Amino acid sequence: MRKNIVAGNWKMNNDLAQTETLITALQGQTKTSNAEVMVAPTFTNLWHAFQSLRESDIEVVAQNMHFAENGAYTGEISASMLKSIGVKTVILGHSERRAYFNETDESLAKKVDAALANDMRVIFCFGEELADRKAGNEEAVVGSQIKNALFHLGAEAFKNIVLAYEPVWAIGTGETASPEQAQDMHAFIRKTLSDKYGNDLADSVSILYGGSVKPANAQEIFSKPDVDGGLIGGAALKAEDFYAIVNAF
Ligand code: PEP
Repeated sequence: MRKNIVAGNWKMNNDLAQTETLITALQGQTKTSNAEVMVAPTFTNLWHAFQSLRESDIEVVAQNMHFAENGAYTGEISASMLKSIGVKTVILGHSERRAYFNETDESLAKKVDAALANDMRVIFCFGEELADRKAGNEEAVVGSQIKNALFHLGAEAFKNIVLAYEPVWAIGTGETASPEQAQDMHAFIRKTLSDKYGNDLADSVSILYGGSVKPANAQEIFSKPDVDGGLIGGAALKAEDFYAIVNAF
């Protein structure tokens, strides 16, 4: 059985004091669903968040990492550094990293390899831009993002891969893919996995939807059979909204 997951991507928000406040608010929430819950603070707050949440059922995950183990990469952080502070999961390939930091399918394939070599779990993000969807190319774009970054992997590796479909036109815009658009794409993603690795593997991989998920729309999106949870940006910055989404399952 694949897992339901709700992950909050805090992006470049919250200094240390604000992180403490949000964590305290999260600890005051009650989970009534079976979803696994994750939050991704900035690098500077990861250690503090990890310490504060170590007794809770909220996993602290990283927003990014470099593919090299160590060396002359000023400003970067490696998988083993994340692991050394207890972080076991990393978000890779977010559209903001692709758009503003020139991340490509090729560099992401290296990051995925480095994370897996360190026994980390990867939340791998991808999604089409508005122009791709208008041109009817969304499946071609998404299919190639998945193939280019992940299809060199053996089947075993997918135990540690979670996929996050995030149409770029829906991220932070207030515009959400309709539940049907999300379901259609998630079914396509599962078929893409199935064609390469077989049905059992495709059925076992959690596929999250991301893009303006809010308490008001989460339940309908999560009710779709191939949507296994969400990667949440803006609404993850308010504990009550985030838990309304967590509890939407
Ligand atoms: C995201 O950044 O992954 C995201 C989905 O953001 P938002 O929920 O704000 O659209």
